[in-house]
Amino acid sequence: MSKKIGRRQLLGGLVTGTATAAVAAPSYAQGKRRLKMVTTWPKNFPGLGTAPENIAKRVHAMTDGQLDIKIYAAGELVGAFDAFDAVSTGTADLYNGAEYYWQGKSPAYNFFCAVPFGMTAAEINAWINFGGGQELWDELSAKFNIRAFQSANTGVQMGGWFRNEINSLDDFKGLKIRMPGLGGEVMRRLGAAAVSMPGGEIFPSMKSGAIDASEWVGPWNDMAFGFHQVAKYYYCPGFQEPGAMLATGINLDVWASLTAAQQEVLRTACEAENNATLSEYNYKNAAALETLVKKHNVEVRSFSPEIMAALKQTSQQVLEEAAAKDPFTKRVYDSYRASLANSMQWGARSEEPYTKARREL
Ligand code: CA
Repeated sequence: MSKKIGRRQLLGGLVTGTATAAVAAPSYAQGKRRLKMVTTWPKNFPGLGTAPENIAKRVHAMTDGQLDIKIYAAGELVGAFDAFDAVSTGTADLYNGAEYYWQGKSPAYNFFCAVPFGMTAAEINAWINFGGGQELWDELSAKFNIRAFQSANTGVQMGGWFRNEINSLDDFKGLKIRMPGLGGEVMRRLGAAAVSMPGGEIFPSMKSGAIDASEWVGPWNDMAFGFHQVAKYYYCPGFQEPGAMLATGINLDVWASLTAAQQEVLRTACEAENNATLSEYNYKNAAALETLVKKHNVEVRSFSPEIMAALKQTSQQVLEEAAAKDPFTKRVYDSYRASLANSMQWGARSEEPYTKARREL
């Protein structure tokens, strides 16, 4: 029996109000697709977790419901750090997460999220969209049967929450800190014991004393987790993630099975959410920081120039060493560095002097 006949029978059954065997015809027969997206985030977590939900809503609206994406929070279908493998092998259709979580697959993944003393949000957008970043990312993702798009950005993050003040480089020695990606490696070089763990595990680990410090995102997200209840000092700036780009990846076979219009809808929904999240972070971080300081008596501190200089120097070494691990990562690093140099040259004549004058004069 062809699908066409099956639909006619279904319609007939509905009109006459009688159940027929054709009722079993799936929505797929009407051209609808239902896809599963696994994420590395807690359910509906502000920004990070709501972004995939918003992408699904945008796709649903733009396809008049023909493409339906069901979102699974970390742990619902697979664990946060298993999202990549789930999509690579086809257990899930899409993932939404931070690409540096997959650095075990290739060190190059760090550059498609955030690296210490790397790009800001505007700079990474420039690289991905115009500086050759997307092409390299496609090449990397294809090795794992995936295609990925940028789909959120947190802007500059905070340096993290610390139980004790960080006054000198010695204070990093033996510090048990949650910091993923290459930022964690920088911490290790300074003598800290850095660990990577999904967001949902940070608060209990801080509370139990398993870790002494943690970076997460910024005031809006950090307040949602309640870190001010377990640490007093909140350091800035987030040298480790100056503009974390988050991503949506899709299994390449699933991607190829979408119509050209559906592919463009998905890509566009991700791009729209990338822009929307950055706006939301910029707006809500400001208000949340004020609440943390005024209501919760959080002490905001800046890393000293001496500490920032050491972090910068160590970051450069860590990036160079990551790039030297394989020829592909070196190509990504060279492209990233060239685009960053380009952005910095222009920034030094535009945004930097402008914002400095606006603040100081
Ligand atoms: Ca972070």
